[in-house]
Amino acid sequence: MRKPYIAGNWKMNMTPSAGAAFAKELAKALEGVDTKVMIAPPFVTIPAVLEAVKGSNIIVAAQNMNDHLSGAYTGEVSPAMLKDLGVTNVILGHSERRAIYGETDEFINKKVLLALSESMDIDLCVGETLEEREAGKLEEVLTRQVSVGLSGVSAEQMSHITIAYEPVWAIGTGKTATPEDADDAHAFIRSLVEKLYTKGVAEELIIQYGGSVKASNVKSLMSKKHIDGALVGGASLSVEQFLPIVTFDK
Ligand code: PEP
Repeated sequence: MRKPYIAGNWKMNMTPSAGAAFAKELAKALEGVDTKVMIAPPFVTIPAVLEAVKGSNIIVAAQNMNDHLSGAYTGEVSPAMLKDLGVTNVILGHSERRAIYGETDEFINKKVLLALSESMDIDLCVGETLEEREAGKLEEVLTRQVSVGLSGVSAEQMSHITIAYEPVWAIGTGKTATPEDADDAHAFIRSLVEKLYTKGVAEELIIQYGGSVKASNVKSLMSKKHIDGALVGGASLSVEQFLPIVTFDK
């Protein structure tokens, strides 16, 4: 039985004071609600949010990390620093990191292995561009992103991995994949993980959908067999919009 997992990626939004106020309000609203929920603030906002969610079940994640533990990497943040703060989760391979900062599958894999070695849980983002989908390359792209991204990850370590399927053309555009299209892609990812690992690992794997998820479409997405959660961007920036997504089944 896979437990629903709803995550919010704040991207480069929310100052420490705004993030803390949001987190306090969300934690209060979620008292007694047993849903797995994560929020990913920008690095500098993380300490204030960690403080604000103390005593709640809300998981605080980083949106990225460096591929080294320390060293001469000006402007970067290492998983050891995040761990020291009390951050247990990290998003890796977001399409904005891939497209804007040129992150390759091999580079993302290096970070995946480092995060695992630091005992962190990972949200690994994959997904095709519109051009790739229209060229019939969906399966080829997902196969590469999943198999290279998870290269060297053991079956035991897979319990620390969540995959977020985020079609690039649906991110921040208001266009959502139909629940059926998303479910097909999720089923494909699950079959891929079964080939790479075992049926058991594939059945346990949480696969989130991301791409213009909002209160009005979360229920139909979550009703699909292979959709176990959501990674939410824009609609995670206000409690008013995010709360009904988190409590979609209440
Ligand atoms: C995202 O950035 O991961 C995302 C899914 O964004 P949005 O919900 O705004 O499409």
